[in-house]
Amino acid sequence: MKRFKAPVALPRRDMSAGGCPFCCHEGLSLQTFHETEQCLCLYDIRPIVPGHSLILPKRHVGSFLSLGEAELMEMLLLAQRVLRALMKCYGAEGFDLALQEGECAGQSIRHLHLHLVPRRWGDLPDPGDWASAIEKGGVANRISDEEIAENVRRIRAALAEV
Ligand SMILES: [Zn+2]
Repeated sequence: MKRFKAPVALPRRDMSAGGCPFCCHEGLSLQTFHETEQCLCLYDIRPIVPGHSLILPKRHVGSFLSLGEAELMEMLLLAQRVLRALMKCYGAEGFDLALQEGECAGQSIRHLHLHLVPRRWGDLPDPGDWASAIEKGGVANRISDEEIAENVRRIRAALAEV
């Protein structure tokens, strides 16, 4: 699996993208386990369960409804492939796929991102606790760089086989 490389051109910045943590691709290199022409796949640095990952468009898009057709297709096809890899990698029996749009829906970073959460029985006190766990993710402890790198390595290896 090729290593993540920073894009040659940074996405066009606008008022809404100013200071966006998902627009600084260099800053995401540690947690990036895969990239395509239009999307990045990241390991969540505050995972609610092992394997919790994110897929996002490289360009700053705030709304799911603003995605272009090619971006949308790439993102969804990628989600399916990454979920296969995550399930294999973490021995998952199911998964949650979540997208929060708008503050009223719990969106905290205004750059569209899809949460991929591989699930196992008993991983959270109640199966439905994932939504509140994602909401609280911003205050949970960040895992170490070593843990992030190890998970990135594992997912890359699994992705090469799906
Ligand atoms: Zn952004």
